[in-house]
Amino acid sequence: MERAPVKTYCIIGDPVHHSLSPGMQNAAFNALGLNCTYIAFRVPTSELEASIQSLRSIKIAGFNVTIPHKVAVMKYLDELDATAKKAGAVNTVNNIEGVFKGYNTDMHGFIEPLRRRKVDFEGMSVLLLGAGGAARAIVAALSEEKGIAKVVIANRDQKKAGELARAGEKMGLKCEPLPFDKVTTASPDADLVVNATSIGLSNEPSPVDSDHIKKGSIVYDIVYRPVVTDLIEQAKMAQASVVYGYEMLIEQGARAFEIWTGLEAPREVMKKNLLGIFGEPT
Ligand code: NDP
Repeated sequence: MERAPVKTYCIIGDPVHHSLSPGMQNAAFNALGLNCTYIAFRVPTSELEASIQSLRSIKIAGFNVTIPHKVAVMKYLDELDATAKKAGAVNTVNNIEGVFKGYNTDMHGFIEPLRRRKVDFEGMSVLLLGAGGAARAIVAALSEEKGIAKVVIANRDQKKAGELARAGEKMGLKCEPLPFDKVTTASPDADLVVNATSIGLSNEPSPVDSDHIKKGSIVYDIVYRPVVTDLIEQAKMAQASVVYGYEMLIEQGARAFEIWTGLEAPREVMKKNLLGIFGEPT
């Protein structure tokens, strides 16, 4: 049987050398026997527009977008789906016969691990740490769940916390901004604590310790490297349930794979690829 022509996918960002997406997506393509390949390109901000033109010329099959281009890329695309419009950011682009269509799979990536745990959002009080790009996708995802009582948004930059709180209100959530140094005043009452800051990436201590985490609550750290951050350790000490950042990473990648190929993503293969690098959490 003749092999299908090769399709090339990529990720653009700056920096991008640390990206785990090439390994994860290539493992998924190989597992399904697809003649597809996925590579990483460092694209500085000043070269974003030209790079998108180049991706059009070479007829790239699709691509992911990471820091710092998730918002800026939108103006170079032809269409946006509902997720991209809602989150105000794009992390996945599909090339549909020359039409570049943008999606946001971080929303799905964030919420799916909670849905899989059958989390009941009714009456839930959420504490969200951070007001950057990922936090915005998280607010958009939470706004699609029914019954959340409130979302407290703690951020160093109060202007950004206020803007995200207003965006959340427009999406139908009750939101309150909070200065970042006051997190421990809100964390003991939170049913769900989400870290969407970069704290933890360099093994920094968690801004919330076990004495300020409610027993039986859920603590979700979207930082995925290291797998077990100090916040996750503190949550376990407080007898909270934990959700790991790698779970979101797999789900956002799996949804991108499904948009590109129309096939169900081999999540176990993708997980094995990631945890082979990380080591299984205990
Ligand atoms: P942004 O740069 O858009 O936002 C960074 C956020 O972190 C801001 O709210 C910033 O606060 C806060 N922050 C950074 N350093 C500190 C600090 N020392 N103390 C307090 N707050 C701090 O990044 P993203 O939103 O895109 O990403 C945030 C994190 O989420 C990253 O670690 C990234 O790796 C992770 N991520 C994980 C994903 C997954 O699939 N698991 C997907 C996407 C992101 P301020 O505004 O005050 O500067």
